[in-house]
Amino acid sequence: MQQSPDRVNPAASDRQEHLRSIPKVDECLAALEGDVAGSGTPASVVKAAVREVLAEVRQAILAGEQVVPDALDIDALLPRFLARIHHRQRPRLRRIINATGVIIHTNLGRSVLPRSAMDAIFEAGSRYSNLEFDLESGRRGSRYSLVEELLCELTGAQSALVVNNNAAAVLIVLETLAKGREVVVSRGQLVEIGGSFRIPDVMARSGARLVEVGATNRTHLRDYENAIGEETGLLLKVHCSNYRIIGFTSQVSNEDLVALGRRRGLPVMEDLGSGCFVDLSRFGLMKEPTVQEVVASGVDVVTFSGDKLLGGPQAGIILGSRELVDRIKKNPLNRALRIDKFTLAGLESILRLYRDPEHVTETIPTLAMIATPVTVVDRRARRLLRRLRRIAADTCEFSLADTVARVGGGAMPEQNLPSRAVTMIPARLSINRLEELLRHEEVPVIGRIEDERFLLDMRTVADDEVVLLADTLARVLAMERP
Ligand SMILES: *Cc1c(COP(=O)(O)O)cnc(C)c1O
Repeated sequence: MQQSPDRVNPAASDRQEHLRSIPKVDECLAALEGDVAGSGTPASVVKAAVREVLAEVRQAILAGEQVVPDALDIDALLPRFLARIHHRQRPRLRRIINATGVIIHTNLGRSVLPRSAMDAIFEAGSRYSNLEFDLESGRRGSRYSLVEELLCELTGAQSALVVNNNAAAVLIVLETLAKGREVVVSRGQLVEIGGSFRIPDVMARSGARLVEVGATNRTHLRDYENAIGEETGLLLKVHCSNYRIIGFTSQVSNEDLVALGRRRGLPVMEDLGSGCFVDLSRFGLMKEPTVQEVVASGVDVVTFSGDKLLGGPQAGIILGSRELVDRIKKNPLNRALRIDKFTLAGLESILRLYRDPEHVTETIPTLAMIATPVTVVDRRARRLLRRLRRIAADTCEFSLADTVARVGGGAMPEQNLPSRAVTMIPARLSINRLEELLRHEEVPVIGRIEDERFLLDMRTVADDEVVLLADTLARVLAMERP
């Protein structure tokens, strides 16, 4: 028998033995032949997955983990290889089920687009288009002209321009109108929106200088008036979209600010944030000024997002007077911030739906989710509950609960939308483990944890997702503790 220094250390000798038993990459690849042949999986992916799993096995042995000899058989490793291949092949950007009750959820993709918009995007992407070609004259055209017409028609604005997102809209407007000059803003409106958008930071990037006026809770017209000087380039209003200052407060009305701007020859801009074309107060939500009302108030430039309350694709919409918007269009930054043809196709499609404002709460998913009566949400929750009790009763305690859904996306922060949820107390898993397992499903389910229960708010779940949701939950609930 070969003498080895390991002999004095049985653990180390076992380890050597195990390391030697790790199958060779080529053997594993041969064993996988049958499983991956014809699946279209690139050989490079299969090889990388095998290498990765074998490296982990080696690591585990070196770390002194217990290894059952059979665990090193190729047959025993095959499921791990296949799982890893599947993981590597799976798209990174994936569909999920949003059971958080937050309708415009920035982390979950904000607005869901209707079929008509997706069809328009499909066509724009899979065929050539007149993106920058004027079919009337046969000459080069502008990619914005089509949505510009629609935006003006719908809002009463003279001119319009669309850029990558609202942050870009604010940047390009400030850069065009106030670079090297001062911008007067109320202290109560210096907002930060999640994901590091802060008005003062964007302002700094644009080359404009911020002049704060008023106190956090109150700003008066005379505060703006006193701040105006030689260097002033713009009066800016920022919509308090994701917070509210309550109590002893006062902000200057658009009309007063516009009158002041006119007197002093200064443009007035409002960053509306969410920007909505329809009055949502009939759904019990607080009255927020619509884009049309803000335009009618005489503000020279208005900006808002395409994928918040408008319910469209990511975009930053700029409305304003012809003279100012023309200057913004000519800014070289415009080229860097421009939208692509998919956005344009989706946005045009969404804007067309607003020509029939009576039906937008049915045709545009974001608005439909806000407008859905709680009785309908309740029915959806009951459907899920019935199915879960049928297929997963012994793995979990299910019930219904009243919840509060949110508009989200920094819109209407303290607005409560009455909603209904299915609540879960799993029998075999901890709540945190359940939450984690649901994130790792083929179609991940994102809910929330509240009072030791897992909650699925049904306001943001579509009717045609209920079966998939129930089946996913049933599968996860049946899993044993790790
Ligand atoms: C959301 C928001 C922004 C940023 O808009 P994006 O489209 O996310 O770039 C800017 N200002 C306000 C007031 C907002 O609510």
